[in-house]
Amino acid sequence: MGLTRITDHVHRFEDTCHVYVLHHEHEALLIDFGSGAVLDHLHDLGVERVTDILVTHHHRDQVQGLARAVAAGIRIWVPPVERDLIESVDEHWRTRPLDNDYDVRQDRFSLLEQVPVTGAVAEYRTVRHGAFDVHTLPLPGHTVGSVGYLVDLDGRRLAFTGDLVHGEGRLWSLAATQWAYTGFHPNAGMEGAAATVLSCMQLLDHEPEMLLPSHGEPVTDPPASVKRLRGHLQDLIDMRRATPWLPEPLLDSPWKTVTPTCCATPPAWPTPTPCSPSTEPRCSSTSAST
Ligand SMILES: [Zn+2]
Repeated sequence: MGLTRITDHVHRFEDTCHVYVLHHEHEALLIDFGSGAVLDHLHDLGVERVTDILVTHHHRDQVQGLARAVAAGIRIWVPPVERDLIESVDEHWRTRPLDNDYDVRQDRFSLLEQVPVTGAVAEYRTVRHGAFDVHTLPLPGHTVGSVGYLVDLDGRRLAFTGDLVHGEGRLWSLAATQWAYTGFHPNAGMEGAAATVLSCMQLLDHEPEMLLPSHGEPVTDPPASVKRLRGHLQDLIDMRRATPWLPEPLLDSPWKTVTPTCCATPPAWPTPTPCSPSTEPRCSSTSAST
């Protein structure tokens, strides 16, 4: 265990996962927490107080030491989709099927005992935590509710990406990307791989200059690394499908008309049919927005 310098104000502590320490004067913000041993080493950086911990996902290697953070009075912020797997995990263990179970998500890698949290991070928002402005981005793939954190610091845009990627062009866990054992959707069993591709593309839209994963080394050329990873995942996905799948349309045009209601009229329905008792359509038949 030890601290590795990433930039002037960011250090990495190697624990059950990488714990990133963003420090300013005598205070620090942590990304993930590992076993909590990082608290014994912060004096090396002149840090006297940790204000907040931001968690990327609920897996035990990220959060197993959180009880120590609670005892130290540190604010704990977690992904909204996975909040229950941290502060209400007792109920998860009480209700999770243990046998004859085809739900293969790795939520069994949750905490053994729940810990209270301060709140959920706000996705797609920039919020001040301690001395740092942090933008939270949903990054499903490794888990359903994973998030990443973007911070402009020391002249660079840094992305703390949890287990979305593992170093250059690789994944930390391929098994974690299989959410369903089987199913009828063409991407059944490949949900996490497909989500990883989409998350990587959305992440690149923010033009991060360095990816800092929970495991593995920093990625200093994110577009090239993501391109390699995407190629590998695309090969895997295409092996499992009868027809090709390209992710771009899901990002560019994510909405489909479910009923001929209010905001879009597909070509199959040239005449708009209002869904409300009103005789007036609520928007134009030519509108493609939803
Ligand atoms: Zn994980």
